[in-house]
Order: sequence, then C-alpha cells, then structure tokens
Amino acid sequence: MIIKVLTLFPEMLDSIFSHSILGRAQSKGAAAIEAVNIRDFSANKHNSVDDYPFGGGCGMVMTPQPIMDAHKHVMKNIQVKEKIRTIYCTPKGKVFNQDLAKELSREKALVFLCGHYEGVDQRVIDEVVTDEISIGDYVLTGGELPAAVMIDSVVRLLPGVLNQEQSYEDESFYNGLLEYPHYTRPREHQGKQVPNVLLSGDHAKIDAWRRYQSLKETWLKRPDLLEKKRLTEDEKKYLKQIQETSIKAEK
Ligand code: SAM
Repeated sequence: MIIKVLTLFPEMLDSIFSHSILGRAQSKGAAAIEAVNIRDFSANKHNSVDDYPFGGGCGMVMTPQPIMDAHKHVMKNIQVKEKIRTIYCTPKGKVFNQDLAKELSREKALVFLCGHYEGVDQRVIDEVVTDEISIGDYVLTGGELPAAVMIDSVVRLLPGVLNQEQSYEDESFYNGLLEYPHYTRPREHQGKQVPNVLLSGDHAKIDAWRRYQSLKETWLKRPDLLEKKRLTEDEKKYLKQIQETSIKAEK
C-alpha cells in the first residue's frame, strides 16, 4: 500500500513511520509511507501556508494553493489504477473504528491531509477530499497524530505485516468483542496465580476459556458492542452464565 501524508510537520511523523510495525511493514515491502511537506509547495514569497479567516473570528486557516499543489504532486506520483481516497483528518468527520481500518486496509493507496490552526479552506475539502475522518470527539492541535493513529491501525492489517504470534484476529474489536486477558511468566506473582486452564495444554479448553473471558470483558466494559454482535449458540450460553454470575455478585 502506498500512503502519502500531506502535513506542515513531516518531522513529527518520520520517526513514527520508521519504527516498530510501521518500519517493519516498509522493509518487508507491504507499505511505502511518506510525509510530504505542504510548505514546500507554497507559491508565496514568504512560504506562508495560512491566512486570516474571511468574515473575521480567531485563528488562522490553511490556504488552498499549497495544499492543492501538494495534492496534485502526490496524486501524479502514485502509480495505481484504482481510485485513490484522500482522507482529511478532522473532528467533524466519521469516527474511526476497526471496521473502517479494515475497509481502508483493502485500498492500494491512501492520501491523508493533516489540518492545523482552525483547519483548511473549505474549497480544498470540496475539491479533493473523499473522506472526512475523526479519531474521536475531542480536538487536537493538528492532524498528524490522527493520521498516525489511522495509518498504524490500517498497516498492521496488511497481509504479511504481523507475524503469526501477533495475529490480529483475536484482538479487540476485530470480531466485535474485546480481547480476553493475557498472562505470561512467572506462574505466580505476588501470590496471584495464572489461571490453571492456560497451563493445561488442552487447546479446546483454552479456546473455550478465552471466548468466555472475551465475552465477559465485553459485557463488563463495553456492553454496547454486544448489541451489534451476532452470537453463536455457545456464546449465548456463556453470556447468560456471565450475566447470572454478575447479578448474583451484585446481590
Ligand atoms: N476548528 C476545527 C473544529 O472546530 O472542528 C478544529 C481544528 S484543530 C485545532 C486543527 C486540526 O487538527 C484539524 O484541521 C484536524 O486536521 C486535526 N484534528 C483535531 N482534532 C481531530 C480529531 N479528533 N480527529 C481528526 N483530526 C483532528
């Protein structure tokens, strides 16, 4: 997957893109990620990229010319036949989640646009943006962290990026549930034991325990997720047990 990020602060992203999973995804050839400096495309003699808002009000607005030219440049250099989505990171957008990460991971190329100040001139959004996406109902200073969050979650879903031990299928949200708890060495820590079933070597029992725990975590922490999830007969049985146990514990 080719990913281009249009930003005023490429240095903020360079380090994130070159470490851990994102760095490895690029050395394996699964992704090519580049932060492109919008300021390099400013036609203004002072290289400025923002101006006062028409109609008054506080803050500055990113001007259209440098963004449109930077966008044209990256689009010209991405060699894919498919339509390329341009995502504007904005608190006004659709809220990002794992389903959207999965959907974006099927694209061949993505362009992210990071706003700053009060955001970008509306004509940029009207002209080149295909998706407006938010990472949550709060306001950050710029779109760099949201772009990094989305890119990280998309790239880890690309084929061959995670190895088998790191597979994402059991992870929270992937199948509409939160993940089960994890334990590692030592078997006993400050008097607390690892659940016996995890030491049993019986994979069917371990799977059943994990499914039960996954439902329990979801029921206790994010019951809203269960409203959307289609449960198997086994899962319905487990959920009934979990609900009965927690009702008893409350009494
Ligand atoms: N004036 C804008 C508003 O009220 O909607 C907020 C602008 S914010 C200070 C500057 C930039 O940060 C935005 O243009 C956007 O790119 C980014 N940003 C801030 N919060 C975000 C969020 N929750 N999700 C995605 N991007 C965000």
